[in-house]
Amino acid sequence: MDAHQAAEPSFRDSVDAMYRRAVKYVDLPPGLAEKIRVCNSTYTVRFGVRLRGEMQTFVGYRSVHKEHLEPVKGGIRYAPNVDQDEVEALAALMTYKCAVMEVPYGGSKGGLCIDPRAWTEEELERITRRFASELIKRDLINPATNVPAPDMGTGEREMAWIVDQYRRTRTDDINAAACVTGKPRNLGGIAGRVEATGRGVQYALREFFRHKQDVALTGLKGGLKGKRVIVQGLGNVGYHAAKFLSEEDDAPVVAVLERDGAVINPKGLNIEDLKEHLKAAGGVKGFEGGSYVADAASLLEAECDILIPAAMEGVINLSNAERIKAPLIIEAANGPVTAGADRILREKGVVIIPDMYANGGGVTVSYFEWVKNLQHIRFGRMQRRQEEARHEKLISALEEMTGKPFPVEMREAFVKGTDELDLVRSGLDDTMRSAYSNIAEIWRAKRDEGVDLRTAAFILAIQRIGLSYRSLGL
Ligand code: GLU
Repeated sequence: MDAHQAAEPSFRDSVDAMYRRAVKYVDLPPGLAEKIRVCNSTYTVRFGVRLRGEMQTFVGYRSVHKEHLEPVKGGIRYAPNVDQDEVEALAALMTYKCAVMEVPYGGSKGGLCIDPRAWTEEELERITRRFASELIKRDLINPATNVPAPDMGTGEREMAWIVDQYRRTRTDDINAAACVTGKPRNLGGIAGRVEATGRGVQYALREFFRHKQDVALTGLKGGLKGKRVIVQGLGNVGYHAAKFLSEEDDAPVVAVLERDGAVINPKGLNIEDLKEHLKAAGGVKGFEGGSYVADAASLLEAECDILIPAAMEGVINLSNAERIKAPLIIEAANGPVTAGADRILREKGVVIIPDMYANGGGVTVSYFEWVKNLQHIRFGRMQRRQEEARHEKLISALEEMTGKPFPVEMREAFVKGTDELDLVRSGLDDTMRSAYSNIAEIWRAKRDEGVDLRTAAFILAIQRIGLSYRSLGL
């Protein structure tokens, strides 16, 4: 352990330190600040699965940070370094995230200490089903009390196994599909959930760049177009954020950092091609659309306009914060900047769009999926054709009045009724925009008192959670 690691607090302590910094600005009755901060409970399970001729033991967690609103919500992570401290930190971030995004949930998180790449699909299915049964037994997976979702190392496939396991156990639960979100479409999933977190990062940046006075603090000029982006981690979140920003906003992704190294291209990388290469080769090395750099971490410190850490917690820490050159960081991952690094970056004037808002798109669309499951009908199913018929009538009336035919290309775009994906994106965009305006309002009002965007997001979350507790009479 070197000096900076020794000085760095644990992930949970880091989140706590950020919370304490913010709670000073909120007027709460005695004891409530502490009540909100602490993690309510963490369940640890050790279970065995007979694999490869012997009994293998796994350790899993489901932590519930706050349950002022139920169900509680948050993903399940599969990673070799998962431990109680990490799961509790992530559960706390979920509580604050749900409050900031105005999704009616408490915060939770789960984790399984496993390297998913070390096991076959069949083995992972057995392990997941066993882990799920342990959690189902204790109502730690249940549509009314605790609803997991994908996180690092898990995705639609794992959610499909979990919902199936729940159905087998609770055969008479008519709301079984709502026991987990991020499911495949054919099992009750919603259009746009896979892209949601990355899409949310894009919407957050678009919203930020709409506010000239906020952008001015970064020293950047103009809009999102042409801004040079560096993305760390091309997993689900990083991939979608990089893809949408480069393809739809003309913001070139000039470097991507991965496990085996990084690739750079000052003109912008083709994200689709890079993803294909990554899938086929297992790393970024050998990608022809950019040059390879072995020391990926050094690129966190490279010249760029927007830095997007989209993988692990703690990657920007006391060891590198001082050398970060990006004027704007958007936290697509949970907790990528440690409390110590946060202080250094604040002092340098770097603007950080914090995780609990920046990656809130995932849980927002999870909320839409859960509502869809409870209402047992897909969004748009009743009104889409009726909407189209109304638009057709309007066009015919216009044609009759003007005596001119409506241009064919325009007609198609205009007539098309909204489907589930359109509605999900519209709901997500609206949520990202209004959450930003609520946070930024606090930020602007208290900037002179040293409040940054992260602290403003915490303040908003604490105010809302405090209000719920007070209305409950607690
Ligand atoms: N794991 C995601 C997160 O950290 C999504 C959680 C959810 O959809 O419940 O926000």
